[in-house]
Amino acid sequence: MKFLIDLHSHTNTTPHAYSTLEENVRAAKKKGVTILANTMHGPLLQDSPHWWAIVNQRTLPKYIDGIRVLKGVEANVINEEGALDIGQMIIDTCEIIIGGLHSIPEYGSTKDIVKNTKAILNVIKNGIVDIIVHLGNPAFPVNYEEIVIAAKKYNVAIEFNNGSLTCSRTGSTPNCKTLFDLCLKYKPFISLGSDAHFSTLVGDLREVEKLINGYDEKLILNTSENNLMTFLESRRK
Ligand SMILES: [Zn+2]
Ligand SMILES: [Zn+2]
Repeated sequence: MKFLIDLHSHTNTTPHAYSTLEENVRAAKKKGVTILANTMHGPLLQDSPHWWAIVNQRTLPKYIDGIRVLKGVEANVINEEGALDIGQMIIDTCEIIIGGLHSIPEYGSTKDIVKNTKAILNVIKNGIVDIIVHLGNPAFPVNYEEIVIAAKKYNVAIEFNNGSLTCSRTGSTPNCKTLFDLCLKYKPFISLGSDAHFSTLVGDLREVEKLINGYDEKLILNTSENNLMTFLESRRK
């Protein structure tokens, strides 16, 4: 199955990504992508724009050149209580909130598996983040089983990130396989994202498609608009 919904992408509002939103949309359209989540990096990443840039997505149309563009943010986890770098105005603006562990000075050291696991479990329980991103990252070891069980319990999706299997976060692949096996066991929702930082990578889910082959389609947010919107609406209740 080829998925035509991409739930993780970046524009050059953050300088380590290189394409405009219009360029990403054009590339999405060319590939037949129907829904693209514009998941802007949260304000605490070192090269993120001012938080106004995230909130001002409310001026964007729902459809751009026929593509449904979801206003989104990729929040940074600040501490083991699961606090995030986004305030209420961002939460109210965004239609999709993804989040996870990134190298930001506020979070401090990253190799502590107990701290990292506690942080992600609290993010899941706090109820703001819809999708936990790139858990395969070996820079932030976590207890996968505890996280997958909590994700199922709290109706939070686990992301499989195409970038982690190709050009980013080297060493993620075996961890993603472990994570996927646990998903098969506990059956949480899963989400696929390109994590594109350049337009040609938008909608590129080829490696994650192979990895999650055989997963129950009802539990994959990218299977259909209905699956995705039903999930997001259930999260907003
Ligand atoms: Zn990035
Ligand atoms: Zn990202």
